[in-house]
Amino acid sequence: MTIDDAPRETLRGGPREMLRWVASGAAVSRADLSRLSGLSPSTVSQRVEALISQGLLEETGAGRSRGGRRPRQLAVPTGGAVVGAIDLGAHHARVGTLDLSGRVVQGRTLPVRIEDGPEAVLDALLAEVAALAAVPLSDQAARGDAAVGALRGIGIGIPGPVQHATGRIVSPSRMPGWNGFDVAAFCAGQIDVPVIVDNDANLMALGAHRTAHPELDHAVYIKAGTGIGSGVISSGRLHRGAQGSAGDISHCRVVADPAPPCTCGNAGCLEAVASGAALVTALREQGVPVSDLTGVLRLIDDGDRHATALARQAGRAIGEILAVVVNFFNPQVVAIGGRLADCEPLLASMRGTLYERCLPLATQTLLIERVSAGQDVGITGAAHLVIDHVVAAA
Ligand SMILES: [Zn+2]
Repeated sequence: MTIDDAPRETLRGGPREMLRWVASGAAVSRADLSRLSGLSPSTVSQRVEALISQGLLEETGAGRSRGGRRPRQLAVPTGGAVVGAIDLGAHHARVGTLDLSGRVVQGRTLPVRIEDGPEAVLDALLAEVAALAAVPLSDQAARGDAAVGALRGIGIGIPGPVQHATGRIVSPSRMPGWNGFDVAAFCAGQIDVPVIVDNDANLMALGAHRTAHPELDHAVYIKAGTGIGSGVISSGRLHRGAQGSAGDISHCRVVADPAPPCTCGNAGCLEAVASGAALVTALREQGVPVSDLTGVLRLIDDGDRHATALARQAGRAIGEILAVVVNFFNPQVVAIGGRLADCEPLLASMRGTLYERCLPLATQTLLIERVSAGQDVGITGAAHLVIDHVVAAA
């Protein structure tokens, strides 16, 4: 099953915000929710009842009385309903379960061979999610099994372009055998819960925005690892554009001489100059024996001048594209995540280029930072896609 986006929650005290207040401990009672939201006790009660009936909130007994009847305390259920999340990368996948407030319950990193094709890779990852959530896959259990009820849905991040309306992968550059594959339909055939599929950079953006800057309305998140992409938060919500490709900067052209060929058939694309895969290729062409991005990062740490020069060039290239994005979109924050985000020379060049090429008004209050949410940022974003859907249905 594919599902649509939750509508944007514009009103203070909407179900998602109530859930967040309870999860964070800011509210433990209906009275707290009424105070925080400014809504009447009857409206708050109505919303709380809806959230309780959906299993998103529970009552945990009586709190302390300030005179009169003791208020019943509210909590986000633990050990009950969870959402599953998969953040697929070129060589590894992060898989996890999260509670309905978006906190990671369990997380695990698995090696992946993307070239094994979608069925084999997704089968293994779905089995892992099912095991973490302790639910059987469809072919092993009768539908309506009580345990399946505990898993409310699965969010999946894919390192390539995803057509949002269908969940189909369209012309990915480093995923042989995946072009045109309908990830959502395949997964829906394997496990009987809603499945939402999105691009990995979009999910990093969503996860980082919800955890670090939920108060900011306009943000751009760069994911720089083996590949390179970005996700955009506009007016507080993930901006996908007409088809789902918004923010995909991987094949924007940058100044590079010579312009290295790209997997898309063009030359001089950002991905061919500044991605982790591009750094590996460029170093090998210079005769440096390096097998993967880990090796490149180690060389940079050790002060290798070839690797460091390439990292600076990559940072400038990212900065050039980002400068166009910042001038055009005027975000409040630009954050970089992925394995290249820890590469100092790259970050310094990116930052310098950005200041050099942007309008002063665009950078005056612009925050430029690293994504701080760590390795679970992608599964956090994937889980929030599902949570938004569940809460919207409450
Ligand atoms: Zn390209």
